[in-house]
Amino acid sequence: MQGDYRPKNAMPGLAPPGGAGEDWREMEKWVKDDQTGTAAGGGGKFRRTFRIWKEFRFEAAHRLTKVPEGHQCARLHGHSYLVRVHCAGTLDPELEWLVDYADISKVVRPVIARLDHHNLNDIIEGETTAENIAWWLLGELAGKLPHLDRVEVMETPGTGVSVSVSGD
Ligand SMILES: [Zn+2]
Repeated sequence: MQGDYRPKNAMPGLAPPGGAGEDWREMEKWVKDDQTGTAAGGGGKFRRTFRIWKEFRFEAAHRLTKVPEGHQCARLHGHSYLVRVHCAGTLDPELEWLVDYADISKVVRPVIARLDHHNLNDIIEGETTAENIAWWLLGELAGKLPHLDRVEVMETPGTGVSVSVSGD
């Protein structure tokens, strides 16, 4: 019995030439065909969407002010935050990359420096939830970083949030 593999076929930038219903086991064939420029619709890697990311870390203190009395997050405490900045788009035809990782750093590091070893309650408007930190970062980076796609913020190794420019 054939399963429904449409979710695997619905990966952005990896739509199979035969449509979303095409069996995922055909992936190897159509990716290889596309790499040699023979796939239906053609186009190869310069028509693909590539997503790259770079990670940044900072340490900061914060407390939440709207949580119920006795909630642990109401007390001033700190996190080692991990931020992942994603860029997405098509390749530069000459350099064959999306964005220079060094260019991402040039834009993001000064923004991260504004948070590092500070009390986030003095900087972020509203509650200093991971959601609001990601939202603040997105606002600070939008318009400065070409191909910015989304920002992830991880408060602990097992918890995180992401928010995208497109809103999805
Ligand atoms: Zn916290």
